[in-house]
Amino acid sequence: MKQETACIHAARNKINQMHSTGAVAAPIFQSATFAHPSVGESTGYDYSRSGNPTREHVESLIAALEGGAGGLAFSSGMAAVSTLTELFSPGDEIISTDDLYGGTVRLFDHVSAKNGLIVHYTDTSGLSVLKSTISDKTKAIFIESPTNPMMKVTDIVAVKEIIAGRNILLIVDNTFMSPYFCNPIKLGADIVVHSGTKYLSGHNDTLSGFLVAADSKIYEKLRFLQKTTGAVLSPFDSFLVTRGLKTLAVRMEKAQKNALEIAEWLKIQPKITSVHYVGSPEHPAYALSKRQASGFGSMISFTTDSAETARNILNRVKLILYAESLGGVETLITYPVMQTHADVPEERRIAQGINEKLLRLSVGIEAVEDIIADLAKAMQGGL
Ligand SMILES: *Cc1c(COP(=O)(O)O)cnc(C)c1O
Repeated sequence: MKQETACIHAARNKINQMHSTGAVAAPIFQSATFAHPSVGESTGYDYSRSGNPTREHVESLIAALEGGAGGLAFSSGMAAVSTLTELFSPGDEIISTDDLYGGTVRLFDHVSAKNGLIVHYTDTSGLSVLKSTISDKTKAIFIESPTNPMMKVTDIVAVKEIIAGRNILLIVDNTFMSPYFCNPIKLGADIVVHSGTKYLSGHNDTLSGFLVAADSKIYEKLRFLQKTTGAVLSPFDSFLVTRGLKTLAVRMEKAQKNALEIAEWLKIQPKITSVHYVGSPEHPAYALSKRQASGFGSMISFTTDSAETARNILNRVKLILYAESLGGVETLITYPVMQTHADVPEERRIAQGINEKLLRLSVGIEAVEDIIADLAKAMQGGL
């Protein structure tokens, strides 16, 4: 089954298992608990924290789309990542991409560190640095690809080769690509992370997070952690993500088409000094992106000629919304330095190029002419 078909039909058997009405949409089982037929018997459901049919449906769907043994749905992307960190013990070390989602940095630095987990940030797009950072204590490599907001790409197959035969988990946050464009498990990843808040749900109307495990042993461990720590996705939000996933393919295609045009347009604007988009042939990871993904996505970051221009754009856009988040049908613009990356220590931020001139655009599915006209007007000045 092709991905665009799978987005709609992959977990149909789960719906049919739930009941026999023929309902095309997965029903919302808004129940906290489930009655037992008799002592020692169960319908398969006891209590919604351990399992809920509507949640299981979306979990099966994401597992099928990523090609994993099992999927788990959480109340947010950060709930998924923080549950994941419970796999590790004090003294364990993780090597992570240096240009990482700010919320994950905050979790690693302020919560995981206190629990004894040591995180080394390196440029995982440069493999020699990664190699030399691995030690006996390394338990996982955590990468984001492309990175947020600098759009650096890590060669997933090459990282897997480096850690082959060692007891190191390869974890990929696949939020920016979505399972429509990239399937890290097929490239060797052990666990895939998603902020389902972004492309999966796609309408900026629900928070959610996912973990997909390549093999059932890791899946069972994560499932135990999910039910124990409890940050599960609600039945209604599970329904919303399922609904969003049905249009994932068309949304990804349209947003990418828009992004390709917008990136080309941005490059020739006098007030724009650099554009970071993996779909631009001159992007350093263009060839690698083509190899490990079937698309480039629709995230663009760009540097303006001054902090003033950046602020003017943020203040003057009308159609484009100045808001955090990404991956929805609405085009959003963010100011990483003040929003997503405010908690990343300054010297690390500056080293990454995350400064007051940098803006990040999550391209939506509006008419591209309207998005460009809005940006053009905002750049020209005048209110
Ligand atoms: C948004 C995001 C997260 C966190 O997800 P939430 O749903 O906001 O908790 C993690 N990783 C990446 C790459 C993100 O963009």
